[in-house]
Amino acid sequence: MRLRKIKGALEFLESHPEIVMINPEQHKGKWYEVFSNGNPLHVEIGAGKGQFVLDMAKKYPNINFIAIEKFDSVLIRALEKLIETPMDNVRLMHYDALTLTEVFDHEVETIYLNFSDPWPKARHAKRRLTSPRFLKNYEQIVEGPIIFKTDNYNFFTYSLETMEEYGMILEDVTYDLHSMDIDNVMTEFEQKFSSKGFKINRVIARFRGEQNGK
Ligand code: SAM
Repeated sequence: MRLRKIKGALEFLESHPEIVMINPEQHKGKWYEVFSNGNPLHVEIGAGKGQFVLDMAKKYPNINFIAIEKFDSVLIRALEKLIETPMDNVRLMHYDALTLTEVFDHEVETIYLNFSDPWPKARHAKRRLTSPRFLKNYEQIVEGPIIFKTDNYNFFTYSLETMEEYGMILEDVTYDLHSMDIDNVMTEFEQKFSSKGFKINRVIARFRGEQNGK
């Protein structure tokens, strides 16, 4: 995705520490303190403008959500919406998923990867958010499922293979999510691609092992 850099975006994010987590490493192992409750913690990695997290947070007020995004110029759109309509159960994080283990202990209940950048060239495979080096990070922070949605078939099959090779359990795989009669909150990219006729793929996957209740 080509992104337009917006001047002053970082300063704007940093001027709202009640919503945007500054030095999020300080909360590792005690995110419940940030939200002042022990509700489950769900995070979206690569949240873009935050539409999915905001809609989910409205729908599920007893779940805490963090929208994680590495580009300040898109994350400011989520901040603008939260300033207009404050929500107690949402925080934003300007952060790169590569170093998430510095921010979370084993305290995330669910990870959402929605329409992550596919990085189609083989030499960029390492940048895909479902590549092994990212899975290794997620394994250390998540207790429950990783829910991954994409319109990109090749990226989806790559991700299924990578997750399986990593030893994950693929609980639920669909190549046409919208044909199913299920509760699904759409993301901004999901709306865009499905309106153009692209089918939406989704997998719900879990790591094996005691910490994941298996
Ligand atoms: N999830 C949103 C949706 O479905 O509408 C946005 C999808 S957009 C295609 C992917 C986003 O992931 C981009 O905003 C990009 O900046 C972000 N991203 C890519 N790599 C990342 C990383 N390593 N850490 C955090 N965010 C990342």
